[in-house]
Amino acid sequence: MDEELDPVMMSATCHTKGCPVADIAFVAPMYPNATEPIYRAQCGQCDQAITDLVPVTA
Ligand SMILES: [Zn+2]
Repeated sequence: MDEELDPVMMSATCHTKGCPVADIAFVAPMYPNATEPIYRAQCGQCDQAITDLVPVTA
């Protein structure tokens, strides 16, 4: 049987120097990955991996 995973609302913030959206938090639904890192995000502006991911609790 398949396990259905619900997306988690995550706040992602890029901290790359000079990035147009540095230090701006974007909230988006993210699906957990089967392998580490469980949550992965990439900045849409500077293409760097975003390490600052915080789950948003309603
Ligand atoms: Zn960025």
